[in-house]
Amino acid sequence: MNSKDSGTKFVFVTGGVLSGIGKGATTASIAKLFQFRGYSIRIVKIDPYLNIDPGTLNPIEHGEVFVTDETWTFRPIEDFKFTISEIDLDFGTYERFTGMNVHPSQNITSGQIYTSVILGERRGSFLGRTVQIIPHVTDQIKKRLWENVRKEPVPDVLLVEIGGTVGDIEAMPFLEAVRQLAREVGRENVAFVHVTLVPYMKSVGEFKTKPTQHSVRTLQGLGLQPDVVVCRAEAPLSEPARAKIALFCNVPEEKVISNPDIPIIYRLPLSFEEQGLGNGLVAHFGLEQRTPQTDDWRQIVERFEDASENVTIAMPGKYTLLSDSYKSINEALAHAAAACNAHVTIRWIETEDRYDEAPLTKDLSNVDGVLLTPGFGGRGVEGMISAAAVSFREKIPFLGICYGAQLGAVAFARVEMGWEGAHTTEVDPDSLYPVVDLMPEQRQAKDKGGTMRLGGHEVHLIEGTKTHALYGVTEVRERFRHRYHLIERYIKKMKSKGLIISAVDSTGRIINAIELTNHPFWIGVQFHPEFRSRPEKPHPLYLGLIRAALEYKRGKSREQRS
Ligand code: GLN
Repeated sequence: MNSKDSGTKFVFVTGGVLSGIGKGATTASIAKLFQFRGYSIRIVKIDPYLNIDPGTLNPIEHGEVFVTDETWTFRPIEDFKFTISEIDLDFGTYERFTGMNVHPSQNITSGQIYTSVILGERRGSFLGRTVQIIPHVTDQIKKRLWENVRKEPVPDVLLVEIGGTVGDIEAMPFLEAVRQLAREVGRENVAFVHVTLVPYMKSVGEFKTKPTQHSVRTLQGLGLQPDVVVCRAEAPLSEPARAKIALFCNVPEEKVISNPDIPIIYRLPLSFEEQGLGNGLVAHFGLEQRTPQTDDWRQIVERFEDASENVTIAMPGKYTLLSDSYKSINEALAHAAAACNAHVTIRWIETEDRYDEAPLTKDLSNVDGVLLTPGFGGRGVEGMISAAAVSFREKIPFLGICYGAQLGAVAFARVEMGWEGAHTTEVDPDSLYPVVDLMPEQRQAKDKGGTMRLGGHEVHLIEGTKTHALYGVTEVRERFRHRYHLIERYIKKMKSKGLIISAVDSTGRIINAIELTNHPFWIGVQFHPEFRSRPEKPHPLYLGLIRAALEYKRGKSREQRS
């Protein structure tokens, strides 16, 4: 099958010079250019690492793990399966930009490709032949790409972001597969977009194009000629820099696109549009030129840019060194703030070395709200528990997410219930008050990967609670990623001191949310609302937190004035 059968066009996005230069936002923005014109899209991301999925990766190194609503059973061979709904964080960017939910099979890893090939070999799929990177691994890669084309609804444009940097050993089979695919479908059906870094040397007042030239040459050496070069730089490229890149990289000048630092990342598609990238790509593919409908998106972006108030939210936790480890939370807070005409400042508080209530009371005295972060393991936990305790004592608006909710319950057990040593068994398996624990049926599981409760599940909100009032409905669907649970036997006793259950699962057995009745805004949820937040549609819980934080801030300044 070639592209003519499906009509689908391909955009391949590669990266040069450095990793982490915003290839995800570039890919999502290019997708948006097609959406502005009413063309349907799907985005695939290739991650060349050997993990089957990023679920076990350390977020300090890799950034957050994104969780999809749908769960995918990946079957490299018939009776061998992995359940996947944990994928690369770039998918969060894709969902937020395109407004579409992604499917886990859109994230292709080397781990998946090699597992399929190697287990296939054991099953005799290769009929006695020597199994090789070319053609067997590259065929498997192309197969996965075609599956993403053929899946209904068949997209007009399939965008494929190739993770890592051109020249990385792991990415070679993918680039080779892409080269073959471009030949097979016809070069006119494929656009290569190369994203590079163009450093600006202040001392000489010049953009330096040499790293870009080198990375494009590496790409050319692999048989790939970029059609578009997107240049990440501190500022918009100068004309001489643009001309030089065009000349050396063999692309027309109008296809050298600036991707300068911008405060609101959602402006990027509009910036690309202004530089003619949308029309340029449509012309490249010989698609019908249509007037881009950018008004709705522009309004959303302006809401962020025009925000006049400020609200400060503390995020006590670990992993706070890399802000990408909480990417979707940061975005969800920003979406909610923009909807309230506010700009959010996030204050990361590393709780590894701050665990007593005294320093945390001080830290939290000049913030307007607390978001207690998700996470795993014992590091930084005591400080997070103290932060939760301070938030209910000081009546600071509080939203606990997953681990944050669990540790909020631990804090309540210790401080309000007086249950000394209360804990989650994830950290203290011998706790006398295991308010957070495994469910009995979970105790058998051994593997780390694949034992978690993942993906989208129904949530039943209990009428009369604040959580229910925020949603305004009784049944919702939220995304989960946890192993431990709030234990009903203990949580129920907390009602006497004001902590109630505000949401459960469809069986009524799993506690999905808790809240305080004697506090203006203190909510803990077992799920991750941030994964569903979109710039145009903030999540009700985040909106609730920001509104309460603004209220709290106004109350404080009234107090100071009087
Ligand atoms: N470590 C906790 C659990 O496994 C919370 C996980 C999370 O915050 N995502 O239940």
